[in-house]
Amino acid sequence: MALEVENCTNPFLPQLLDQIFEIYRNQAESGSLTKEESGKLFYDLSAFLGEELVFRSLQLLDDYIFTYYYFKNKNNLYVVELSKGSEYFRVLPRINYCKCDFFQCHVLQLPKGILYQDIPSGQVGILEDWSEESRVSFTCQHVLALRLHQFLCPGTKTSEQYLKKEELKNLQKEIFRD
Ligand SMILES: [Zn+2]
Repeated sequence: MALEVENCTNPFLPQLLDQIFEIYRNQAESGSLTKEESGKLFYDLSAFLGEELVFRSLQLLDDYIFTYYYFKNKNNLYVVELSKGSEYFRVLPRINYCKCDFFQCHVLQLPKGILYQDIPSGQVGILEDWSEESRVSFTCQHVLALRLHQFLCPGTKTSEQYLKKEELKNLQKEIFRD
């Protein structure tokens, strides 16, 4: 699949991304995605989202633990937490939003560092090692990593928890709280 590099403001980007994943869905679901096919998937995603974002999202799959929070059963996935040591990011499946610096600054284009307080202070300057090309982006590495994690189902470094409705509501609220 040959793809042109697209601007991330392309209004069709969400559908285009769905289409890319769709091409590989059968193989991914049956666990028969070859190395070559997953390489092509990452290449196609890179054409739209930028190589750096895709690369960093894949790194999260290796380095972070993904905790899936459910209500009652697995059809009700509400929140996913990506964590490594004391650092964590919570995102909602299929929702393009994250509290991380990258999302706030390079996706929403908000002024750096004034909108939220609960990002550990050790992460100040975290955006400085991103390249110039990544400064306008459709999504962040956490949102993309979750999508890739759900798609590729790596199994390792995954945990699952069932929460009460009230607990889930609080988790969700926290994601959008400034
Ligand atoms: Zn993020």
